[in-house]
Amino acid sequence: MNTPRRPDLVCPAGSLRALQVAVDAGADAVYMGLKDATNARNFAGLNFDRSQAMQGVRYARDRGRQVLMALNTYAQADQPQRWFEAVDMAVDMGVHAVILADPAVMAYSQRRHPGLRLHLSVQASATNYEAIGFYRERYGIQRAVLPRVLTLPQVAHVIRHTDVEIEVFGFGSLCVMVEGRCALSSYATGQAPNTAGVCSPPSAVRWDAEGDKVNARLGGILIDQFAADEPRGYPTLCKGRFDVDGDVDYALEEPTSLNTLAILPELVKAGVSAIKIEGARDRGRVAQLASLGGAGRLHAGSQ
Ligand code: SF4
Repeated sequence: MNTPRRPDLVCPAGSLRALQVAVDAGADAVYMGLKDATNARNFAGLNFDRSQAMQGVRYARDRGRQVLMALNTYAQADQPQRWFEAVDMAVDMGVHAVILADPAVMAYSQRRHPGLRLHLSVQASATNYEAIGFYRERYGIQRAVLPRVLTLPQVAHVIRHTDVEIEVFGFGSLCVMVEGRCALSSYATGQAPNTAGVCSPPSAVRWDAEGDKVNARLGGILIDQFAADEPRGYPTLCKGRFDVDGDVDYALEEPTSLNTLAILPELVKAGVSAIKIEGARDRGRVAQLASLGGAGRLHAGSQ
């Protein structure tokens, strides 16, 4: 019987320091984005300019690790060139692969850089092997990141029916609307991951004290109320606490809802090629996640 290959551990790098910490802590690969709307984590204070990105790629490559460049938003009709230039820049820097969602960007990458590894972003919402097969056949993708709503048997089913490498999220939160199909952020703020590269942009977030409580609002909508000393997650609409028939609870999703530590051996047995730690919106959380993945805990029991 074949022993399943140990999956790569793929960690988020929101800054050069986070990249170095993740690499030093044992990440096999890090994923990064540029400081603009070409990636789906376009938050102020995160991401890389050209010079930082080059330093990051050098740092990782010198240590035998991979850098994946996320260019996983959808190119805007009036400026697709920006996405194409970002692909060219990533290739110039020597990244291991680009993570893409937009077919136009995939077509450009395949045409202009035939040897470039293409990873299908979770933002492309490919939930089944037929969709993954389409992207493989049409654009030559070599890996697909599955949306976080799939169950373990569904992940295994996809893997059994494709020769494309499959990457799954191992830690972070869920994205209940199947990533790229979510309209909640647009509804509340007018901006969403696929267009502005950001779910629930910070400019739309308000924290207001009210007596001994703190109200969290997004685009003016009250989505949570915390006690003064209660830990506060970043306010996205899907993770709000609402009053439903007198029950105040997370109606859609709890803020820290994805932790696959207990089922890692089964994911490995299913044949996943990579386990990804979700990116975070603040540096403290990045460091926390990197240390969680890097100290070997995510590998425990799986190798
Ligand atoms: S609102 Fe929630 S479900 Fe929608 S994109 Fe943001 S995190 Fe995902």
